[in-house]
Amino acid sequence: MPFVEVKCPSCASVFPVDKTKDVWICGYCGKPFIVEKALAEYKKASGTKDVTVPDTVKSIEYLDFSGCDNIQSITINVQSIGSFDFSDCKNLQSININANSIDSLEITNCQSLQIVNIPRTAKIENIEISDCKNLKSVTKK
Ligand SMILES: [Zn+2]
Repeated sequence: MPFVEVKCPSCASVFPVDKTKDVWICGYCGKPFIVEKALAEYKKASGTKDVTVPDTVKSIEYLDFSGCDNIQSITINVQSIGSFDFSDCKNLQSININANSIDSLEITNCQSLQIVNIPRTAKIENIEISDCKNLKSVTKK
């Protein structure tokens, strides 16, 4: 199930949904919305700077943040991650991941990115970081 971040058109809450579904019900306000529309809301939402995926989400198979210019920091608290794509996030400064396992992490062309934190105990199959010229540290904490 490919998960993407969306912004609820009704209450403006931000959370991941399965993008193969056409309609989803907001867990915050209970209103149904069109996934495509909520995704578009999310991508253009200039107010969304910090994204947190809460630990109530146990696992994420696929999360695509590519081209989300407005996001400055991302915090992810889940047990397992399939594939993450952070590409071309112009203003992204920090990525904090708390997970036990990560299959694939791709971070490319994030020109503002300075810090990536990954837990020391995490099992990581594949990590690719390229074209992030301001990256100062990749820390296993
Ligand atoms: Zn809502």
